[in-house]
Amino acid sequence: AKEQGSAVQQYDPASDGNTASRLELLGDLRRAIGTDDQLSLHYQPKVSLATGRVTGAEALIRWQHPVRGKVFPDVFIPMAESTSLIHPLTSHVLELAVAQAKSWADRGTPIPVAVNLSTRCLLDPGFAAQVFGLLYRTGLPAHLLKLEITESVAMADPEKALTVLRALHDGGISLSIDDFGTGHSSMTYLQHLPVDELKIDKSFVQAMATSHGDEVLVRTAITLAHNLGLSVVAEGVEDDAAVVALRVLGCDVAQGYHYARPMPAADFDQWFADYTA
Ligand code: C2E
Ligand code: CA
Ligand code: CA
Ligand code: CA
Repeated sequence: AKEQGSAVQQYDPASDGNTASRLELLGDLRRAIGTDDQLSLHYQPKVSLATGRVTGAEALIRWQHPVRGKVFPDVFIPMAESTSLIHPLTSHVLELAVAQAKSWADRGTPIPVAVNLSTRCLLDPGFAAQVFGLLYRTGLPAHLLKLEITESVAMADPEKALTVLRALHDGGISLSIDDFGTGHSSMTYLQHLPVDELKIDKSFVQAMATSHGDEVLVRTAITLAHNLGLSVVAEGVEDDAAVVALRVLGCDVAQGYHYARPMPAADFDQWFADYTA
């Protein structure tokens, strides 16, 4: 039911209303975090619309369940978020992503890695210290780690979240607002968040070609971001027409299947070598 439509079996609990099986899946996820072979990260490039250069890579988690096959993050991340399991899961993702970014940097291709954060991480007062501890242990410079948050994050408990966000940002980690335009966000809120980048949700980017209203939304988001001094990323860029349109609108960075799908690190490295050759 997802973009990676393959013949491989994919588990979707939406068609499985059974609470017991949800609990079982959570148990499986808890065990998967402790092992090395089920959870992995795929990486998708972000590309500058002005220069064509790769400006970073977003880490997206994948779960290969031993019985159920591929389980997508839209399924298990919300489940993990409804329990404290999201904390060890986020730590696991950060460890993998930071190790990958360190490996790129050590090979002379310092590609910043972007990690998706759940709301609950920003309500954990120890979160920033945990992230800086990881950077210290691995030796990854802070500017090579980006964190993507959704606006709802900051809305849940603005004071708490802002404290954590400021600590991360003051330490040199750059922050992105993800899925911009989808939340019940107040635009006025944006100016108080210590963010560097705004990512326009793929639903608007994809509708832009056929819907004037969506084109206006994308245009407005770009203007708003630039007026606030933020860089703008368009998600879900699937074809050349979108690239051309976004360039005309002055969008800074594009990400989507037009360039590459999210892929395992080894495939990303091959893609990068071919792309930059
Ligand atoms: P997101 O952060 O908005 O990630 C973008 C999603 O769009 C990804 O889905 C990506 O595979 C997909 N995508 C990328 N390019 C295109 C395109 O050109 N067309 C289309 N149709 N889709 C594209 P994915 O990997 O299934 O992840 C879904 C969501 O799960 C993410 O949305 C993010 O919110 C969450 N997620 C993924 N990994 C993690 C993680 O490690 N931690 C947390 N907390 N959330 C994660
Ligand atoms: Ca994201
Ligand atoms: Ca997004
Ligand atoms: Ca999303």
